[in-house]
Amino acid sequence: MGLAAFARWLRPDLLVNSLEEIPLGRLQQRGIRAFILDLDNTVTFWQSDTVAEATRAWLHHVRERGFAVCLSSNNSYARGAPVAACLGLPLVPSAGKPRRRAFYQALDILGTGPQETAVIGDQIFTDVFGAKRLGMFCILVRPLGPREFITTRLLRHLERLVIRCWESG
Ligand SMILES: [Mg+2]
Repeated sequence: MGLAAFARWLRPDLLVNSLEEIPLGRLQQRGIRAFILDLDNTVTFWQSDTVAEATRAWLHHVRERGFAVCLSSNNSYARGAPVAACLGLPLVPSAGKPRRRAFYQALDILGTGPQETAVIGDQIFTDVFGAKRLGMFCILVRPLGPREFITTRLLRHLERLVIRCWESG
């Protein structure tokens, strides 16, 4: 696969500015019953334990509608566990996304198959790439804040190249 083809393959099913923009009804219609949800810069700012009121309300709404939710983070257990406990959500820490193992672990916890589960995250080379590898529906959400790991900041340059391919193709 050439680079441009790879970039196109990485295109998410949905691109949204915030979690609240995700069309839950439409997803339910296509058989999505669960979410694998990234943590840093998707649910909280990087390395922050604070979950915004709007995000809490969204999570409450999502679960009320019957979706199962599992957090999945490449960050450590020590970092993710307090947030997960506070939200009452299961967590797969040190996920090593885009490796497949952690996605299978999350599916196990959720009790759903890849076809009925959507991945939500802010990074193309971890969240989206991993979701694509399992053929899962994939939602890329704009990162909550500009602060992140040095490795992530480097990947953002590559992300911009990929996004340019989406825009030109
Ligand atoms: Mg993230």
